[in-house]
Amino acid sequence: MTFLARIARFLFWLLVVSWSVWLLRHIVNWMLRSAASAPQQHPEASSVAQASGEARQLVRDPVCGMHVDQTLAIPLREGSELVHFCSAACRDAYASDTKKFAANG
Ligand SMILES: [Zn+2]
Repeated sequence: MTFLARIARFLFWLLVVSWSVWLLRHIVNWMLRSAASAPQQHPEASSVAQASGEARQLVRDPVCGMHVDQTLAIPLREGSELVHFCSAACRDAYASDTKKFAANG
């Protein structure tokens, strides 16, 4: 009789454990599903936008080789491309150089 009682108790605990595991799995599944369906804020997208907003584009002055912020640089349209300079003096030097080069060529 004690042997049967032990088997009964074993089966009872087996049932309890398997049922609690099943319940736990369903709870985890439900939590994952609710987390996935929740509206996401895309933190990576906002951080990328912030970084691009903060990042200032530097342009190189071809005359003196200085790197200047594009918003502060003096632009000069050279054919199809836009060249940037740190000062009007550099721009004029570049313009006169290219004119001389064009005259020689
Ligand atoms: Zn310069």
